[in-house]
Parts: sequence; structure tokens; C-alpha cells
Amino acid sequence: MANIYIWQDDPESGQPQLQIPAPDLNVAPLATKITDPQPEAKLYDKGSDEFRYWVVAGSLSRAQQFWGPLLPAGITWHQGSALDVIRDRDVDLNAYYDRASLSFFHEDVGGQTFFSCESPDVVCHEFGHGVLDAIRPELFDAASIESSAFHESFADMSAILTAIQLDEVRNEVMQETGNRPERNSRLSRLAEQLGRAIRQVSPGSAETDCLRNAANSFFYQEPDTLPSMAPASMLSSEPHSLSRVFTGAFFEALAGMSRTLSDPPTEAGLKTASVEMAKLLLGAVKIAPVVPEYFSQVAAGLIEADSNGSGKYATVLKSAFVRHGILSPSTATSMVSLQAATSVSGATPAMRMATGGTAPTSGQLPLQAITAAQYGLDGPLFVHAPSQPRRLAAHAASFTSAVVMPQSSEMAARSFVEHLMRLGRVDYGAHGDPNLHILHPHRHKTHFLERVGNGYVLSRKVFYCGLSGD
Ligand SMILES: [Zn+2]
Repeated sequence: MANIYIWQDDPESGQPQLQIPAPDLNVAPLATKITDPQPEAKLYDKGSDEFRYWVVAGSLSRAQQFWGPLLPAGITWHQGSALDVIRDRDVDLNAYYDRASLSFFHEDVGGQTFFSCESPDVVCHEFGHGVLDAIRPELFDAASIESSAFHESFADMSAILTAIQLDEVRNEVMQETGNRPERNSRLSRLAEQLGRAIRQVSPGSAETDCLRNAANSFFYQEPDTLPSMAPASMLSSEPHSLSRVFTGAFFEALAGMSRTLSDPPTEAGLKTASVEMAKLLLGAVKIAPVVPEYFSQVAAGLIEADSNGSGKYATVLKSAFVRHGILSPSTATSMVSLQAATSVSGATPAMRMATGGTAPTSGQLPLQAITAAQYGLDGPLFVHAPSQPRRLAAHAASFTSAVVMPQSSEMAARSFVEHLMRLGRVDYGAHGDPNLHILHPHRHKTHFLERVGNGYVLSRKVFYCGLSGD
């Protein structure tokens, strides 16, 4: 095949474009199909539509080649066949995953047209939503702020892990950070170009140097204690904002894993660590139950997945998740002593909950009814409650030495619905009394209602990933 141009991780990360052979996207298990006609494969001028077509193809191929071989056998996209990729759906500073497609947008801002599909960071983020949905479909509809935030974090982790697969990115990150990959770099800065566009129209909605930066010091707070919106410098319960806590811990752990392999870290070690981290993440999301304290459960799952292998990353995983408050020191210590006890004597782990012991099943979460008269609905609202049986007691830390006791699944679901309503994210359709709806007619709708019996079921239709206030 002829060569095409691709961007490395983002058009504005300061790196020149690269040449690669035109990729084939029809590759199982994560085949994709760009919906507009394929132009001849050649080296087009930057800024042309044909150039953008092949940039998108290059990003998709990189994500396919990374995630495809790591998926358990038989796993593919939620909807089964090749996933449609719509490069330019409409005018917006946005991108989304809705199970039927990965969709991208364009918008003119300050005399420049921004195409969200042009950034590999953005494409590999959307791809990540699809990968997680393939493994744990019940997260899609989960009425839980924290599991929604984890979906965004997994998508950002997908962007970071796939970028590491490029030799050029690894070499430049090592140079830029002086072999300290935990530092701020073009790897930690996600979606620089889209972030610049969003900053111009909504200064508080993107960080100062990109959309979201994984080299951060955000400390876990219960979503219920956070405001629904906040400027990018602060934490809110908006899923993209909250996701940065988990992504920050992941980024620190990833750098720590590369340092475990060799000190000082090398670019080759960073690549090895990225593949091993991806395997640990897939193992963790497979065993972590969908419960209100989902960050802590996935973090505990990572440590458990590591202990099922070599266990060599226990210290760096534990310290990164403790530093960001996702695991309390007591949880992290018990995890590690539990592994030691299990490996020495095969003793029954003291931390395992009486209700657990088996991996949660995939599928739908149970429906739970909550009252919804305050939202203008004339019947109960059924939500997919984060209520799977816990296998481990994993707690987050508070600002004091106390641990955060998990919310009940019902309280977490209520908080989630309140959060959605405040932000105007629910599409009421023709249901309920229109005069009592909490409607924000110009805001993007992520969820919709369906009439079932005497009530309504709340389900997700899309993960929107761009300008979060809209
Ligand atoms: Zn997203």
C-alpha cells in the first residue's frame, strides 16, 4: 500500500506528521468503517479533507492494533459488526460514542476550523469508550457518577496507552521529561488542539495547555460532595472533571511501572509497561463490581490482577492510588498483606466479603425505582443501579485519616439522577408534564426516558466527550 500521513498524538503536540502505509481497518475483533468514501492512499496536503481521512484511519488502526490482541477471545464491539466512524457529523466542539458509531464534529472558532477527528488523542479516546463497553456493557447505563467518570478515564487512558506505541512519541517524552515519564509532557497533555478551541469559547472548560492533563495532583472526593460544575482547575462531579483523579493515579502508576522495569526508565520500558498496564486494566474491569465506589474497586482490581501475575508492580500501584486518595492506606495495606498471605499459605483472604468471591457477571444492572415527582414525572423512575455484589471491601481515603464509607447503591443512583437533571442531560421525549420538566433545551442530552408500565426507565444514549458544559 502507498504511504499516508498521520499525526502522532495530536496536531498541536508539537510533533511533525509521520508517514505509514495506508492501514486496513477491517480487522477483527475491533473492525471499524469510515462512512465516507475512501480517497486514494497518498500523501495529501495538511488541512485537506483527504489528509484528514487518512489521519483518522491511522488513529483507528493504532487503537485496533493495540487493544485488539489484548481482548479476551470472542469479545468485539457491543453492536457486533464493524463500528461506523463518522468523521464530521455536524457543527460542534465535540466527539461521541453511542454504540452505533464513533462520531466527530467541526466548528469555526477564532477564524480557524477545528475538526475533532483530526486528533489521535480524541479518536483513541472514543475508541476506548467502545473497548470498555465491549468488556463491561453494564457500565453504559449505570446510574453512577463514578462509573461514568471511569468510562471517561478509561477513554483517556486509551489515548495515552496507544500514543506510547509510537517510537517517536516515547523517544520525545523521555527527552522532554528527562526520563521521568510521570511529568507533564506531550503524553500527559490530552487533546491540545480541541482544548485550545474549547478554551476560546468557554475558558473554564479546558486546562491551560490541553483539554485534560494526566500529570495532575487531583485527590479523590466523593462525587456527592462536589459541585456539578467547576472550572478546569477544580474538581467537580462532571464525569470528565472527576475522571482526572483516576487518570492521574494511572499515569503515576504507569511511570512507576516503567521505573520498576529499569531505573532510570527507558523508552523500551515505557512501552512494556503500557502493554502490561493495559492487561492489568482489562483484568481489573473484568473483576471490579459496579458499585458506588467504583474507582476504589478498579484500583483494588488492578492490584489483584497484578498479584495474579508476577506481583512486581504492587508497590507502585498501591502508592499511586493511595497518593490520589482512591485507595485508603488501610485498604492498600490489606490488599498487599492479603496477597502475601494468599501466596504463602493459600489462606482464605480475610478481606473477601461474605457476599462475594465470584467475578460479577456481564450484562445489565438491576433496575431500582426512585421517586421522580420532583422532576415532573408521574410515576417511578427506574434506574440501572450500581449494585453488584462486592468481592472486596475497598475504600477511598478522606482528607482526614478516616476512610470513605461507600454510599448505598440507591443513594448513588439518586445523586446521579440529580446530577443529570441539574446539567440538563435528560431527554424527556413526550413523557411527563412538560410544565414540570427540568429542561435545558440547548444542552446535549446523554440520557433518555422510556415508558415502562406505570413508570419510566432511564438509559444512556451517548457519551459526549467535548465541550462538557454544552
Ligand atoms: Zn469520552
